[in-house]
Amino acid sequence: MQTITVTRATALKTKPADESKLGFGRIFTDHMFVMDYTPDLGWHDPRVIPYQDFAMDPASVVLHYGQAIFEGTKCYRRADGGLQLFRPDANMARMSRSAQRMGMPVLDEELALEGLKELLRLEADWVPHQEGTSLYIRPTMISTDVQLGVHASKTYRFYIICSPVGSYYKNGLEPVRIYVEDQYVRAVRGGTGFTKCAGNYAASILAGEIAEKKGYSQVLWLDGVEQKYVEEVGSMNMMFAYGNKIVTPALNGSILPGITRDSILTLARQLGYETEEKRIAIADVFADGKAGKLTEAFGTGTAAVISPVGELMMDDEKLILQDGKIGPVAQKLYDTLTGIQYGRLPDENNWIVRL
Ligand SMILES: *Cc1c(COP(=O)(O)O)cnc(C)c1O
Repeated sequence: MQTITVTRATALKTKPADESKLGFGRIFTDHMFVMDYTPDLGWHDPRVIPYQDFAMDPASVVLHYGQAIFEGTKCYRRADGGLQLFRPDANMARMSRSAQRMGMPVLDEELALEGLKELLRLEADWVPHQEGTSLYIRPTMISTDVQLGVHASKTYRFYIICSPVGSYYKNGLEPVRIYVEDQYVRAVRGGTGFTKCAGNYAASILAGEIAEKKGYSQVLWLDGVEQKYVEEVGSMNMMFAYGNKIVTPALNGSILPGITRDSILTLARQLGYETEEKRIAIADVFADGKAGKLTEAFGTGTAAVISPVGELMMDDEKLILQDGKIGPVAQKLYDTLTGIQYGRLPDENNWIVRL
């Protein structure tokens, strides 16, 4: 493995005093990990350096054609003060799959993980202590060639930045109100829906803004062809509980294969819930909800972990679930997954990487 060089910041930033006001992704730590790619050298010059601006040529490919992918994972502080990561190898593997679809070089996953650990050795004090807080980690890959021809870039940069975060939602684990988007679509089969690429988000921002103005915190996307079937929510996969059975949209190429989704499905089975991955019609969600068969809906994702859905809105039709409160299935799965992530529960699936 290549040697990772470390250059420490000469002056450290003041850490946020009030951990209850961290918010999400607004504060960044003192250092970052960077490495570069060229066809002849591959991934090279891995380094931890002070957090800093990049100088970029205005003709950089990423700024015009959007070759940009990212990941999101977290570092958690255990009650005994120790630090741990949750399935970071799955994030690096997913980034390689995203890279392949975007015509970008696959990651040196081992080197990227080592770089992350080296970075966290310097940033350990940035991992917050309060219940529900963590250090959010954002690995990113961008193209760096300078040219306006539409070709894959030959050179790339991979970097990791970190941000201490509180709960993703301002109101904690309170259920969210979700707007079912039936005009715009996020992704189609054969497109980039299964990748964590910047463009997927660019395409989603307008619908998110419109929903927010109407008082909804996120958009639920339907399939891009018929706009009949549930895909996912902005940055979360969707799950529906029918009593002790949990159903979720099957991975069809246009849905992001969430690591939280996979972990929740695994834990749910281990806890004795029945699980099913299938195509789910939004009309059935509303009908089953109104008939009382569908008992809960919740989103799953690294940032929010589990986010119960208290209300779904489509075409002025409203579905209220669990009286707008969190249901027992979402609560049980949240407690189990966060218990493992924070080291309160045993890690029977070998998901935890201790630092
Ligand atoms: C990141 C993301 C998710 C959740 O994935 P996790 O690995 O669970 O964090 C779901 N949907 C989209 C569109 C995403 O970008």
